[in-house]
Amino acid sequence: MKKKNALASGYCYSYCMRCKWYSVCPMRRFEREGRIGNEWNRKYCSGNYEACVRYRKEEAGIPHQDILLPDGSFLPAGGDRVN
Ligand code: SF4
Repeated sequence: MKKKNALASGYCYSYCMRCKWYSVCPMRRFEREGRIGNEWNRKYCSGNYEACVRYRKEEAGIPHQDILLPDGSFLPAGGDRVN
């Protein structure tokens, strides 16, 4: 799969670099806590990170909550898992 097609699909593991915020992003903590599934990492953090709302806000210098998820939704309170 060529990079352009891989990016369009949202899954471009070996063709794309990891998001530069990967190691410091709150998503890692949510993964460790079991509050989110691996799909977020595959689709955004290690995939098409430029599509991530968190990434875009960071690039624009727009403050955002830790619980903001890459698709613009929010991690629910109460510990419900988001896949
Ligand atoms: S959630 Fe967004 S900002 Fe955070 S590491 Fe993943 S792609 Fe980057």
